[in-house]
Amino acid sequence: MRSRQRMFAAVMRLLLKCLRLGRRRRFKLVRQAGQLWHYGHLCLRSLLYNSFTNGDVVLDSLFEPIYWLVDHVTRWFGVVFVALVIGLTSSIVAIVYICLLPLILQTYTPAWICWHLAYGHWNLIMIVFHYYKAITTSPGYPPQAKNDLTGVSICRKCIAPKPARTHHCSICNRCVLKMDHHCPWLNNCVGHYNHRYFFSFCLFMTMGCIYCSISGWDMFRDAYAAIETYYQTPPPTFSFRQRAFHKSVVYLWVLCSSVALALGALTVWHAALITRGETSIERHINKKERQRLQKKGKVFRNPYSYGSWDNWKVFLGVDVPRHWLTRVLLPSPHLPHGTGLSWELPPCMTKQRTPLLAI
Ligand SMILES: [Zn+2]
Ligand SMILES: [Zn+2]
Repeated sequence: MRSRQRMFAAVMRLLLKCLRLGRRRRFKLVRQAGQLWHYGHLCLRSLLYNSFTNGDVVLDSLFEPIYWLVDHVTRWFGVVFVALVIGLTSSIVAIVYICLLPLILQTYTPAWICWHLAYGHWNLIMIVFHYYKAITTSPGYPPQAKNDLTGVSICRKCIAPKPARTHHCSICNRCVLKMDHHCPWLNNCVGHYNHRYFFSFCLFMTMGCIYCSISGWDMFRDAYAAIETYYQTPPPTFSFRQRAFHKSVVYLWVLCSSVALALGALTVWHAALITRGETSIERHINKKERQRLQKKGKVFRNPYSYGSWDNWKVFLGVDVPRHWLTRVLLPSPHLPHGTGLSWELPPCMTKQRTPLLAI
């Protein structure tokens, strides 16, 4: 009996010992897991910590795949858009030569014939020249090699100094001097060296479209009226050549008037920006700055504006009066003032104004 009691006590002692041991091991495991969690959390935070991180950076990071897609699609579509501009312009020129010009030569007076031949060909040369120069001229990039460039900021993408008025183009994936915008119709960035070509192309293309719309208005009305009779019974007896003529004239007028409206609005917008001495990007930056200073009771002054008229002269490169003819009204490959890296006053302005500091 006593030996049984002793045995029972020994078993119970063993059981209690096991229980105590299990509890200690469980505590140890929980403590280790807690330490691991804290270590992992600290590692993650130290890897991702950035004192510049804010809501905008997080949002930009989330939208990065969409930006990537848009940039790559735009880059690819640029080639399609350029082919479209060349194709549509060529089709209009072909219609004018095949359909309209013989009619002008037959029906107009010699004075009107001279005017149409002179104006039409001058406008066409200006469009072709400026479009070719706008797509083939590099907009200008900051130097990549080590240099003494006084950058006003650092580009986050290129990790390189960014001169005043320079901005990063995510489609070209590099910084562009005096960047205005990336134009898919040129498949090129519009910047310091090709801004004039871009604007001149827009202006002459709008003028050409207005010219075609006005001079083709009577023909369009006749052709449209003729097309409406196609479905009458009995059907009119138009030959294939006449039907092709009617449809070509309607196509020419509809395309030219639509482009004249859309491109005309864009040209007016860019003309307003040039008058103020701003680029499309600077328009937004300056607007914010103007509002910020207005709240403080101060007036914002654009450091790159020389006054409306002088802004145009600097933009077009008109230093002496004869340049209005040789550099504006005739095709001219002259370079813009300055290098686009710093913004000293152009030589033609130095006598009139005190130098401005680039900001
Ligand atoms: Zn950059
Ligand atoms: Zn670009």
